[in-house]
Amino acid sequence: MPLLVMKFGGTSVADLARIRNAAEKVRAEVARGYDVIVIVSAMSGKTNELVGWVNETSPLYDAREYDAVVSSGENVTAGLMALTLQEMDVPARSWQGWQVPIQTTSAHGAARFVDIPRANIDAKFAEGFKVAVIAGFQGVSAEGRITTLGRGGSDTTAVAFAAAFGAERCDIYTDVDGIYTTDPRITSKARKLEKISFEEMLELASLGAKVLQTRSVELAMRYKVRLRVLSSFDETDETSGTLVCDEDEIMESKVVSGVAYSREEAKLTLVTVEDRPGIAAAIFGPLSEAGVNVDMIVQNISEKSQDHDKPVTDMTFSCPVDQVARARKALETARDAGQISYETLQVDTDAAKVSVVGIGMRSHAGVAARMFRALAEEGVNIKVIATSEIKISVLIDRKYMELAVQALHDAFELDKAG
Ligand code: ADP
Ligand code: ASP
Ligand code: MG
Repeated sequence: MPLLVMKFGGTSVADLARIRNAAEKVRAEVARGYDVIVIVSAMSGKTNELVGWVNETSPLYDAREYDAVVSSGENVTAGLMALTLQEMDVPARSWQGWQVPIQTTSAHGAARFVDIPRANIDAKFAEGFKVAVIAGFQGVSAEGRITTLGRGGSDTTAVAFAAAFGAERCDIYTDVDGIYTTDPRITSKARKLEKISFEEMLELASLGAKVLQTRSVELAMRYKVRLRVLSSFDETDETSGTLVCDEDEIMESKVVSGVAYSREEAKLTLVTVEDRPGIAAAIFGPLSEAGVNVDMIVQNISEKSQDHDKPVTDMTFSCPVDQVARARKALETARDAGQISYETLQVDTDAAKVSVVGIGMRSHAGVAARMFRALAEEGVNIKVIATSEIKISVLIDRKYMELAVQALHDAFELDKAG
């Protein structure tokens, strides 16, 4: 039997009517002759509520209990989706992660798949079940604890199942009708792409475009999964949405193909750090152990260099705002233990990151200059810059984020097909 994976995000299962609407789409594929693996997210807003409860109860929480709580939203929608399908006379049952069992690492809150054994689900398909509904975003560790995959992780569950079961396609149903040149909520000039390369989508996702979780794109690229993003609210067929595919399937030849942003960034500066071999390791080691996702890093000559006999430097880095408390604690602990020394820790929690992405950058110069000029014309000050082969990112004041995205979208003429 040919098999499809269909994933429905939070807004697509936000209430019972939307679950019915999603189930109709599943029934239509079953009617076309497919067995279907459905991956569901929690109802929209649910995971945020659960995360809020955890933070209120225990600010520096035990990550195993965080996962026990925040994984529960998907259990509800998985059961409701199976019931809805049964009401439509489609033979279906739900599976929580541990029942499959979806085996993951024990990195709670950011677990990775170790194995997805097919036997239990294959046996049900063999019995005549047409649909396996899987609770997204969760798994179970070797220690037998429930794990979650990081926010947006149901996308990754979907791609992993598509790879494990050799699905014909992995369809990600969401509240937009495809992948755009930038988030259509930020500018109405955003243009829907027919196709986008794995590489570019990987960068856009890792730089904040939450339409797909980064890891899902990585897995799709590695296992050659045909990955598509489309709307659960529209009538759709095989040609709807945006296909994420290999570079050579794409006709567009723009230097920049998308703009991404990440709104909740913080900039931390350790002022007057002793400048010696090993200091970066001594700073970023404890941060990594504390689970802080350090992003941009800049090491600068300290303003106070002249006042010191030994060489000193300032070390600036960025991380998500909600990790600042962890970062501060890790740095203070390392200082108290004598591993590092610094005079002050400056924390700016009003930052956002804006990035331009395009594989054309590999062969075109001048993208950075054009980007900086566009931002300068809008009076946007740049705090930190980071580049790689196919992206340029800047950290700016959060209040200019929308303006910066719009200015860059205009500067690179992304509203026009190229
Ligand atoms: P779901 O709950 O279905 O997983 P998400 O909210 O995680 O949906 O992702 C869909 C959202 O991603 C859209 O509503 C849109 O605001 C946002 N988004 C960000 N960047 C893009 C982009 N380049 N193209 C399309 N959507 C984007
Ligand atoms: N419900 C989880 C989240 O909101 C996972 C997902 O929807 O993909 O992050
Ligand atoms: Mg999502």
